[in-house]
Amino acid sequence: MALQLFNTLTRAVEKFVPLDPQGRHVGMYCCGPTVHDFAHIGNFRTFVFTDLLRRYLEFRGFDVIHVMNITDVEDKIIKRVQQRQTTLREFTGKYEAEFLADFDTLQCKRPQALPRATEHMPEIVSLIEKLVARGIAYQAADGSVYFSIEKYRGCGCCYGQLVNLNFDAMRVGERVASDEYEKEAVADFALWKKRVPEDGEVFWPSPWGEGRPGWHIECSAMATKHLGESFDLHLGGEDLMFPHHEDEIAQSEGALAYPPGKRFVKHWMHGSHLLVEGKKMSKSLGNYFTLRDLLAKGFSGREIRHLLLKAHYRAQFNFTLDGLAGERASLARLDECVGRLRELAGAATVPPEQGLLMHFTKAMDDDLNVSAAWAAVFEWVSDVNRRLAANELTEPQAAAALEAWNRVDEVFGLGSARQEEASAEVLALVEERQAARKAKDFKRSDVVRDQLKALGWAVEDTAKGPRVKRV
Ligand code: AMP
Ligand code: ZN
Repeated sequence: MALQLFNTLTRAVEKFVPLDPQGRHVGMYCCGPTVHDFAHIGNFRTFVFTDLLRRYLEFRGFDVIHVMNITDVEDKIIKRVQQRQTTLREFTGKYEAEFLADFDTLQCKRPQALPRATEHMPEIVSLIEKLVARGIAYQAADGSVYFSIEKYRGCGCCYGQLVNLNFDAMRVGERVASDEYEKEAVADFALWKKRVPEDGEVFWPSPWGEGRPGWHIECSAMATKHLGESFDLHLGGEDLMFPHHEDEIAQSEGALAYPPGKRFVKHWMHGSHLLVEGKKMSKSLGNYFTLRDLLAKGFSGREIRHLLLKAHYRAQFNFTLDGLAGERASLARLDECVGRLRELAGAATVPPEQGLLMHFTKAMDDDLNVSAAWAAVFEWVSDVNRRLAANELTEPQAAAALEAWNRVDEVFGLGSARQEEASAEVLALVEERQAARKAKDFKRSDVVRDQLKALGWAVEDTAKGPRVKRV
């Protein structure tokens, strides 16, 4: 089976065929963070989903150019820059760095390009100029430049491709200057916002006077600059479908006047929200955890990534601390199995065992069906454990099984558990237990084992001698 992915544009699961006639290169744009604060793990659910897709495309042999923008100028940012009496760059630089540190902790692969909106003013202005020249954008009496939905539709273009719109009920006839506005309103939206006193020093020159871009046009300009006028994949969380992504289509297709059959983006994908007690995790509801909140509670980035990879990207799922803690056991089971394979496999280089890879690929080809993929992984863990217990695995077989897991993990991106170093005290106790066992003083060796347990370590006797591990 070929890779099938749901496309929000056609509302169907489709075979994924890149625009590249050779079928190899894939351009993928993901709406990135608005750097006005620490991101929460709801935001990261979307970024882990985009990382999963990128890794799976690479696993399937595609050459992916992954672009993720940094929204570093927008209403909320400007407000905070004014409140904190700082500069735009200083303020956004801090949160951009924090975001990328969290992104790395969650073991997401860095995109090849991380364009900042503030570094794309010429491209933004040029796109707006094209829209003005085609009569689709206009400068209003307030000095700002707006996108005219009516004019756009008058050119034979469709506004309302990602979502079905009821124009009679939704058209409010007003324009909106705000970056975030009611999802229920179809309104002319700002492309270039005239400078106002509250903007302070945040403004750029333009043919329409000093001002700054609207949020939607930033993404159209950065996406087309880095991936060309037409590219394969555009991703984001489900809340971005409308108006943000709808407006991106309208701006790009309006400005660039595509010939029939050519599109701004071939395939749109949206990740469902992470919920807390049934409600979207969000800053405004206050029901959120940042990554650092969870790290401070003793969870690792890898455990959080594992949890975020558990549910299908189109299924909403509820986050709870208990749920996160509960996932530890399944990760430990996997780590244990992989650790034992590693011990047995030695350094031999062998081709991967095919069974796991076949089941994993079948599941992931089906619109990234991670539930089925995890089921295949845990069935494989049971089987490997059974073969290990029965001493049925030779060194090359263990190496082949390990290699299969390594390939799967290039997609899941969990990496191996960091083995905590045992302290000198723990090592001395292990030695003492060994000596007691040698002298057949089993009472003493049991006492030492209990002492180790009290320190949080378990000891296992393997063919290569005793092995301690954290419990
Ligand atoms: P922002 O920094 O607000 O622009 O959001 C960055 C990304 O996080 C966007 O793709 C949003 O759609 C996504 N997002 C926001 N809240 C959630 C959530 N609770 N669950 C999943 N994704 C989210
Ligand atoms: Zn965007």
